[in-house]
Amino acid sequence: MKRIFLYLMTVVALLMGSGVQAKAPRKLKALVVSGQNNHNWQVSHQVLKLILDHSGLFETDIVLTAPAGGDMSSFRPEFHRYDVVVLDYNGDRWPAETDAAFLKYVQGGGGVVIYHAADNAFAGWEEFNRIIALGGWEGRTEKSGPYYYLKDGKPVLDNTPGPGGSHGQQREYPMHVRHSKHPIVKGLPDNWIHGRDEMYDRMRGPANIKDLLYTGWADAATGGSGREEPLVFTVDYGKARIFHLMLGHCGPTLEDNPAMQCVGFQTLLLRGAEWAATGKVKQPVPSDFPTDRTPSFRMDYKPR
Ligand code: ZN
Repeated sequence: MKRIFLYLMTVVALLMGSGVQAKAPRKLKALVVSGQNNHNWQVSHQVLKLILDHSGLFETDIVLTAPAGGDMSSFRPEFHRYDVVVLDYNGDRWPAETDAAFLKYVQGGGGVVIYHAADNAFAGWEEFNRIIALGGWEGRTEKSGPYYYLKDGKPVLDNTPGPGGSHGQQREYPMHVRHSKHPIVKGLPDNWIHGRDEMYDRMRGPANIKDLLYTGWADAATGGSGREEPLVFTVDYGKARIFHLMLGHCGPTLEDNPAMQCVGFQTLLLRGAEWAATGKVKQPVPSDFPTDRTPSFRMDYKPR
């Protein structure tokens, strides 16, 4: 009996010693793609990396294209090496080999985050438009697909001719939940105030939205469409996990971009990126998340 006891104590001591403790989970590998944009990509791609890396969940690489009009031939990101690809890119077409590598990654079940003006990109690339589901500007019209918005809480596909993509004046606005049980949204308040931002409206495209997560009222009094507009959703595209986040207009300096400093934006980016990478969301809801009355900001992009 005593011998068994000693044996068990030895086993316990060994287990408590080196080698059996739970390892820190592997960080998710994220790739931010930037280099051209009608926005301040020089700031936005850095902010995206700061938010992702400060969470402790991701280790983030950046890949930049050549400047507009430059030689794109060496732009060959290794998409397949990443758990999630975050697009912060709106510019010249990539080389055909890079298009093909991106499609192979996405169609093979890759994770993608479409961030703000990334949904302006590549208006003439049909498959890319199916990856974003809705896009704007860059010549988009009724040929790109219907307008998509909510009326009386129900989706409307509106084939009225006209340009795709507009927005009213920047302002703070309430976010309205549409799928409170989705892993990206679960635990977040149904309604919360987003920091000052553009609200994209009149977007159009194939509209293959999988789960609509948040909408916002594009108030005509501030130049909006006067419709309840889709702002945050996932895309129905085979095995891929695609998270489309229209929020996050990037201001001129690191210190002056309230949309990206909003804790709501940062939380959605992190939860959407984790979901795109793994299909699950394990991170808790932050205690400084905005409420239905007040926005909340992290100027340093660091969790509290
Ligand atoms: Zn913008």
